[in-house]
Amino acid sequence: MSELTSTRVRATAVKLGLPHLAEAVSQYIQRADEAKMGYLDLIDLVLAEELAVREDRRFRSGLRTSKLPHHKTLEDYDFSFQPDLDPRKVKDLATLSFVADKANAALLMPPGVGKTHLAVALAVAACRAGYSIYFTTLDDMVRHLKTAEAAGRLTSKLGSYLRPSVLVVDEVGYQPLERAEANLVFQVISKRYEKGSIILTSNKTFSEWGQIFGDEVLATAILDRLLHHCEVVAINGNSYRLKNRLQALERDTDVA
Ligand code: ADP
Ligand code: MG
Repeated sequence: MSELTSTRVRATAVKLGLPHLAEAVSQYIQRADEAKMGYLDLIDLVLAEELAVREDRRFRSGLRTSKLPHHKTLEDYDFSFQPDLDPRKVKDLATLSFVADKANAALLMPPGVGKTHLAVALAVAACRAGYSIYFTTLDDMVRHLKTAEAAGRLTSKLGSYLRPSVLVVDEVGYQPLERAEANLVFQVISKRYEKGSIILTSNKTFSEWGQIFGDEVLATAILDRLLHHCEVVAINGNSYRLKNRLQALERDTDVA
């Protein structure tokens, strides 16, 4: 390939927003020569690699803006430690059909059982699939909405919780809310209803939500929107955080 043509291909690739092609023109030609590739195969390779590079960039930038506390996956989760948790149920969620349907997922478990881990793993999978993600704890969301409301910026702040395809609301029920705070939560849940998915985690059962939201009527209104289309994974189980400590304690008692 002449120097002139390769320079032009590079410049055109940049203008077309194909930076990987611009960088890799000569490698592509070399690979095509070595593998005696046909024209169609070469075009197929160039387009597939450009797409892969673009999707990887989008995935990494999606993770950065998601505010996820870590990026653990389902592969990092040891299902054998939680025999009550049916791996099929979680793997079904990981197919993300609930996200495509703009439905919700609720993970109700005691502390340390892996609610945040599983919620993050589902969010990472959704991010990889091209969905936008935003992670918050319930308390942080309420705090930010209250501050925005006081500053007359509620609508714009609500947007942060309404725009993403998947909103992860972690730790529902750690702190009881006042009525005005519960009202802000209702606004998020009702505005996302059938428009975008919520993955929520809670250490409380739904019947205890009246106490969290300080008002049975409001709690019922929130649950009504949330649960209309919702996959629920509710189990008891032992804390993974205490796993090693409990094993150590057992060892100590065995010795004693
Ligand atoms: P929760 O949100 O339910 O309190 P986390 O998801 O924060 O629990 O889990 C506590 C810690 O234990 C995290 O580091 C998490 O990755 C890990 N963990 C919990 N359950 C498991 C498991 N079954 N396999 C591997 N790691 C786990
Ligand atoms: Mg947690």
